[in-house]
Amino acid sequence: MNTIIDTSCYTATTEAIRKEAVRLLTEGEVAAVIGYLPGRRTGTAVPAIVTDADKAKELVFTPACVNNLALYLTKAKKEVSRKGKLAIVAKGCDLRALAGLMGESQIKREEVVVIGVACAGVHGANTPPAEPLTEENIARKCRECTVHEPHGADVVCGTLPALPALTPVEQEELARLEAMTPQERWAFWKEHFSRCVKCLACRSICPFCYCEQCLCDRNRPQAVETSPRPAGNMAWHIVRAMHLAGRCAGCAECERACPMDIPLNLLNRKMAQELKELYGHEAGLEPKEKGPLAEYREDDDQSFIK
Ligand code: SF4
Ligand code: SF4
Ligand code: SF4
Repeated sequence: MNTIIDTSCYTATTEAIRKEAVRLLTEGEVAAVIGYLPGRRTGTAVPAIVTDADKAKELVFTPACVNNLALYLTKAKKEVSRKGKLAIVAKGCDLRALAGLMGESQIKREEVVVIGVACAGVHGANTPPAEPLTEENIARKCRECTVHEPHGADVVCGTLPALPALTPVEQEELARLEAMTPQERWAFWKEHFSRCVKCLACRSICPFCYCEQCLCDRNRPQAVETSPRPAGNMAWHIVRAMHLAGRCAGCAECERACPMDIPLNLLNRKMAQELKELYGHEAGLEPKEKGPLAEYREDDDQSFIK
């Protein structure tokens, strides 16, 4: 049965976001609020940088508010931070990315006002935006969410309704991957990566892909082939997975943006699991100065090279 998930609370959440955003802009506490405005088509919501208190009265929170807005606080979006102090609307999962960016000294906590949202879930890929949220169309990450209540926000908008227990699909998918032999796993990823068209949407949408010069764009010398061909595709995905290991906040935005339906977040979660088992590290739980791959400990058992 495709049960509807109660998101009637999002009306009050929207009102609370608008009220806080208007206050912050009117009192001059921030120069802009990063939030969601209604999109051109009915039911859609788009990321928006709002600098005007009147416009802030149009901000929304609905199941279509899928984007991780933490992206707009990175140096990849310098034009946003140049506006001055910012406020950001953040779901619990977005806050994990914010914590990671603070740990990497990309954001100073005191320079951002976090408007947290109590979140029952958002739409999964390919859901018509005006559809009510249901057990079937909810984003896969929301099925096993542990951060419905945002932690560490300056203010929390909305109150959670009673949430249904949903069957996790990501854990099962990971268990299937784990059960494969190394050869089967290699064949699995080779098949998926062969579809990659190198559009780089996964990189553009990721809050942790903020390098001003990406190694994968260099052609003198060329580290990674830029055209979509099997060897270059494999190299691109290995470089990206390693660069994000211990940093990826699991927002699944890369997977949502991928036009070729490549299970990128499965790879991210596999890497996260390895990092947890090897170093007891989980990204985005608290701002840390360095991830485990950027740290040296004398008591490390060095099992990774044995
Ligand atoms: S993972 Fe949790 S916080 Fe993030 S959108 Fe889904 S329900 Fe909301
Ligand atoms: S790699 Fe994907 S899931 Fe991880 S932080 Fe970047 S966009 Fe989010
Ligand atoms: S978004 Fe998908 S198709 Fe585009 S570069 Fe990333 S993995 Fe390849």
